[in-house]
Amino acid sequence: MIAAAMALVSPANAQDVTAGDEPGWSFAIHGGAGVIERENLTDEQEAAYRASLDAALTAGTEILAAGGSAMDAVKAAIVLMEDDPLYNAGRGAVFTWDGRIEHDASIMDGTDRSAGAVTGTRTIRNPILLADTVRTESRHVFLSGDGAEEFAGEHGLETVLPDWFATERRLESLNRLKAQKLSALDVDVKYGTVGAVARDMQGNLAAGTSTGGMTGKRWGRIGDAPIIGAGTYADNDSCAVSATGHGEYFIRVGVAREICSRIALAGEDPQTASDSVLAEVLEMGGDGGVIVVTPAGDEVFSFNTAGMYRGRADSEGLREIAIFGDHAGDAE
Ligand code: ASP
Repeated sequence: MIAAAMALVSPANAQDVTAGDEPGWSFAIHGGAGVIERENLTDEQEAAYRASLDAALTAGTEILAAGGSAMDAVKAAIVLMEDDPLYNAGRGAVFTWDGRIEHDASIMDGTDRSAGAVTGTRTIRNPILLADTVRTESRHVFLSGDGAEEFAGEHGLETVLPDWFATERRLESLNRLKAQKLSALDVDVKYGTVGAVARDMQGNLAAGTSTGGMTGKRWGRIGDAPIIGAGTYADNDSCAVSATGHGEYFIRVGVAREICSRIALAGEDPQTASDSVLAEVLEMGGDGGVIVVTPAGDEVFSFNTAGMYRGRADSEGLREIAIFGDHAGDAE
């Protein structure tokens, strides 16, 4: 599918550019980018990640194949990954310096560019659902901490005790960081944020991202994941993006919006746009990756790390789960 053809697509005629005459759907997910190398994963761990990515991919694609919305597909996949302790999101999120878990999430609907985001929540089981509730039930885009929790209470979001999110593995990461006075990057270079991007049969795009941030984060640090335009962006006229990586750089580059702008304004194909923006991140000293879908139905991965937990599928029969950067043995 040709990216140039979609540069001037408006939401109203977005489905006209689908391959052939059939309206199609596209979907992609990630479970974080980082130093993910074959020698560092046991066969059991690799199998667990593949099964989990497969389940999240299936949750989204079933909705899209049945004619459901891109927003619903994005939420369904992210909720599954938030509940899975394998990822740094929801259950299994990393610990702050003070030994707490503080979640960030954001979501955006490309149809009208409505967006919702939350940061620093501690008891909301699925932060992505709270972000979406901010989008639909408030006049705001971004809520934080106690206020976000209060808003969640008023809207009946499911809460759990903070311990529900805690895992031994992430506690060990924090203790190692403290014992060796390492930086968050040294101790937890696998990141593990989750995200999803979708294009539905109506030609609408959506993107969402959810994370615990970075191990040992302090002083209320907020990364790119809940920042619209940095970690998440969706616009039916250009693309939908979810990012993972060293948030400080992704914020400064405005990664998600920058990729969509290059596609819409410069007519770049989505792979070139994504690779160029991640090269900018790398030049500044950061690393990570993105998943992108376009109005024409392309689904693109780009990352400058050793690996990225990822999957993609579309109505034309593509289905792929991958982890490592070399792609060897990665295809399903
Ligand atoms: N981007 C996230 C952050 O900086 C981390 C990640 O992707 O794992 O908070």
